[in-house]
Amino acid sequence: MSSAYPAEEEVVICGAGIAGVSAAYFLAARQGVQRVILVDELPPLSLTSDHSTECYRNWWPDEAMVALLSRSIDLLEELAEISNNVFHLNRRGYLYCTAEAAKIPTIQQSAEAISRLGAGPLRIQRGLPSEPPYIPAQAEGYRQGLSGADLLLDPALIQQNFPGLSGSIVAALHVRRAGWFSAQQLGMYFLEQARLHGASFVSGRVVEVEKRKQRVQAVLLADGRRIETNCLVLAAGPYLPEAARMLGIDLPVYNELHLKAAINDPLGVVLRRSPLLIWTDPQELDWSEEERQAIAEDPQLTWLLQTLPSGVHTRPEGGSGSQMILMLWEYHNARVEVEFPLPTDPQYPEIALRGLSRMVPGFRGYYGKFARPRIDGGYYTRTRENRPLVGRLPVEGAYVIGALSGFGMMACCGAAELLAAYVAHGALPDYAPAFALERYQDPGYQKRLENWGESGQL
Ligand SMILES: Cc1cc2nc3c(=O)[nH]c(=O)nc-3n(C[C@H](O)[C@H](O)[C@H](O)COP(=O)(O)OP(=O)(O)OC[C@H]3O[C@@H](n4cnc5c(N)ncnc54)[C@H](O)[C@@H]3O)c2cc1C
Repeated sequence: MSSAYPAEEEVVICGAGIAGVSAAYFLAARQGVQRVILVDELPPLSLTSDHSTECYRNWWPDEAMVALLSRSIDLLEELAEISNNVFHLNRRGYLYCTAEAAKIPTIQQSAEAISRLGAGPLRIQRGLPSEPPYIPAQAEGYRQGLSGADLLLDPALIQQNFPGLSGSIVAALHVRRAGWFSAQQLGMYFLEQARLHGASFVSGRVVEVEKRKQRVQAVLLADGRRIETNCLVLAAGPYLPEAARMLGIDLPVYNELHLKAAINDPLGVVLRRSPLLIWTDPQELDWSEEERQAIAEDPQLTWLLQTLPSGVHTRPEGGSGSQMILMLWEYHNARVEVEFPLPTDPQYPEIALRGLSRMVPGFRGYYGKFARPRIDGGYYTRTRENRPLVGRLPVEGAYVIGALSGFGMMACCGAAELLAAYVAHGALPDYAPAFALERYQDPGYQKRLENWGESGQL
């Protein structure tokens, strides 16, 4: 394949998480850039990208995100098709549940608004014989045509299709262009294909960028090696602010800690064919009187008696024979400094499990008695409005693909295709300006940021 990028010149990518490897793939395999060098001191895909929930959706309350994610999912489906679905893409959907009847009009309005942004049609299911029937998702495969969302407003219909969910649920929004896949397998596919098209991996930490007249000239590695290049792509994940400072640039990006717990579910509380289940109501946890008193006596723990935020979610993990489920709930949502090993919280699985019991009462069977939870997670590296940064940086030859927050897996194809178009001087899609750093120079955009609404982030 020929490329507008000079054949003799290297592109160095700093970081081999999903952002870096997908960028390598789109540069080498799709844009024909011949000398792509991925640099990382860690093995590829071993930091944040090894610990995600691996879910995807095109359902976002932001037009630019709907466009980017829709394109990204088009590409995911295309890659699933050509790779014989080596990364096990499914399309089970996301199911957002509520027990608060008063919220239904707002849920419906916001779903209609997202549908109008291009995320697909909204079908209201009241369980009436006159309505087209609700079509359940298939557990495996991605070729089911349904897009948009079904808003289920009939508790009997909800129970019939999702047995095990609480009878208190009055509405469930089933988002259909959504599901999950193996992010490691996708990442390995990108790496293999990029290598087949000439890309290489160098183990090392980038510690300095040499510039001449505000133009990238070389990168220096911690062990003293120097790689000459006129083109550097920052794909440094949670270290993006530090990496940008090597270029003298301050990026409007910060980190949040997000944990995840995996436990075995021998009681089969979460159906193995279940979609991602999300509880959208704030809640107080249902402690026993004894537990309540013990918690009240410890000032470090009294927050556990207060109302905790919405958003606890779960899904089954693994193929046939697996009993594993994943549980996530970001109840702190605080900006933090990055530190590794990750600061984990031993109470996290018990808290997440109690939160989930509102939606799936069977979780009560595990209170205080589940075996060997595995806790991991990472950082959501994000901008204020939760749009990623993809494009040029204000040093010639420097680019960024980052601030991928909680959507780096689902957005990687769209973001990397966009990044590769910048580097190789290809045509840019209409949504490009929404993700470029230059957007912050627009006073109108700054004004919009002050009142930015919901980001739709889990
Ligand atoms: C708990 C959790 C759940 C999530 N769930 C989902 C989900 O369901 N769906 C979804 O789409 N996304 C999800 N995400 C988000 C997703 O995991 C991230 O957006 C994505 O992994 C970020 O990829 P990255 O390549 O930018 O960063 P990383 O994977 O962190 O990779 C960055 C790499 O850069 C390297 N690096 C940094 N600085 C340097 C340097 N100076 N020199 C050399 N190398 C350097 C690091 O060593 C690292 O390997 C989740 C994240 C978390 C934490």
